[in-house]
Amino acid sequence: MLTVSHDSVVVELDLRVGRVACPDCGGRLRPWGWARVRVIRVGLGTDWVVRVCRPRRSRCSACQGTHVLLEVRLAARRADTAAVIAAAIETKIALGWGHRRIAAGCGRPASTVRGWLRAFGASASLIGVEFTRLLVRDAPDAVVLWPQPAGTAGGEALSVLMAYAEGLARRFAATVMVTWIQAGIATTHGRLFCSSWWAAGPNTNRPLRQAVVGGNGGRSACHIPVTGVFTV
Ligand SMILES: [Zn+2]
Repeated sequence: MLTVSHDSVVVELDLRVGRVACPDCGGRLRPWGWARVRVIRVGLGTDWVVRVCRPRRSRCSACQGTHVLLEVRLAARRADTAAVIAAAIETKIALGWGHRRIAAGCGRPASTVRGWLRAFGASASLIGVEFTRLLVRDAPDAVVLWPQPAGTAGGEALSVLMAYAEGLARRFAATVMVTWIQAGIATTHGRLFCSSWWAAGPNTNRPLRQAVVGGNGGRSACHIPVTGVFTV
């Protein structure tokens, strides 16, 4: 699985001209059918709507590996957008709300919200450790971005995710803005909220690198830093 831009037209064009890098070998990914249809709930409160999407599948012209291209707004194994889940986590950590109150606010079942919060809480220590490591590795001046102690594992994890996003924004300051959810989703291949993935030992070790150069010119796949540049 590879996190890509939310702009499907750009992703399709980039795939066709070979501007998306294989996360395994750096080769060029090409179109290779489609993954299964997903039904996603988008929006908060009483205004949420259902959106049907079908992620692109790609195949590497070098190693022949196949990869599902999941847009950065989506989280693996979740039926809600990453932004909705992120809002629930932020509310829990910043305001201390319980899952029922958050569920009422965002218009989702209480059991669903409880699952998001438990998954993040269960992975919080690992998320904190991993993104601290990545912050030191990738941020141009990690010391400046170092977060204050938050007092809880969840707060620490959220703080270091925000610091890492800020570090990426500074690194690519000329072209991009990065939110903590974009940085977290892209770095974890969409699995930021999968506690089982964290428990199994995540692989976020691939370094940041430039987008594949080629095709017919024009902008790269990475008009936000999650496609091409950010193939982690
Ligand atoms: Zn490959």
